[in-house]
Amino acid sequence: MGKLDGKVAIVTASTEGIGYAIARKLAQDGAKVVISSRKQINVDRAVENLKNEDLSVCGVVCHVGNADHRRALVAKAVSEFGGVDILVSNAAVNPYFGPFIHTPERAFDKIMEINVKAAFMLIKEVVPYLEERGQGSITMVTSIAGYSPSSVLGAYSVSKTALLGMTKALSTELAPSNIRVNAVAPGLIKTRFSEALRSSPAALKTATDGIPMNRPGEPEECAGIVSFLSSHEASFISGETIVVAGGSQSRL
Ligand code: NAP
Repeated sequence: MGKLDGKVAIVTASTEGIGYAIARKLAQDGAKVVISSRKQINVDRAVENLKNEDLSVCGVVCHVGNADHRRALVAKAVSEFGGVDILVSNAAVNPYFGPFIHTPERAFDKIMEINVKAAFMLIKEVVPYLEERGQGSITMVTSIAGYSPSSVLGAYSVSKTALLGMTKALSTELAPSNIRVNAVAPGLIKTRFSEALRSSPAALKTATDGIPMNRPGEPEECAGIVSFLSSHEASFISGETIVVAGGSQSRL
């Protein structure tokens, strides 16, 4: 028996990196999982790889900033697997590196639109389906930068702080509907997203010097906690953010 047997999960931005690792773990723990990202070719590849592992998955293109795509994502879960129990909101972008004060308006808008607004709009789309089930779990992927803003990722960091607030606000509001809302806050994880940082030896050294375990994490190291939070084992946990950052300082 897997702890997510009989559950249906949606994971955004799940064709590689942390989202893929989370989708794979949820499926390994028994969930039927809808894979999604912007590019059909990436969706097809991820679905094929996971099906080859005998996991129960399907896929659909979903750019989280597109309202039609968000609706299609939820519709796919309903048509293929009969409903939704779990949402993992993982997609994020960062089109600008540099001093926060110099962030161009377009980059600021893009970061807030994808990282914050799209997450909220997808949650709005999913909640009626969770209510139909009488329960549900939402997990947002934020970042340790939401607690301690990175010097070159100011707007991104602020968008991730907004998700900490969204987790708290929605967890209170949705508790009467038996819907739990939590978050995970990864530190530096080896993915394409962090490649620019990791490919500069000086920047990598600065980043890992601040990590007591002295290494970046692997995407798989973010996955077990999301499966736990999505499961009945976490039935009395809501409004919390779990930091997955090799011992980095985040908060008391
Ligand atoms: P990644 O390896 O670069 O993966 C990106 C994934 O997102 C791909 O599947 C990509 O596929 C998809 N994607 C990109 N833009 C999208 C959009 N607008 N709509 C839907 N899908 C989209 O990234 P990652 O490092 O795993 O990051 C995942 C999450 O972890 C993000 O929220 C990020 O902020 C957070 N995080 C990462 C780190 C880190 O060090 N890596 C640290 C803290 C937090 P397509 O190209 O097909 O869309």
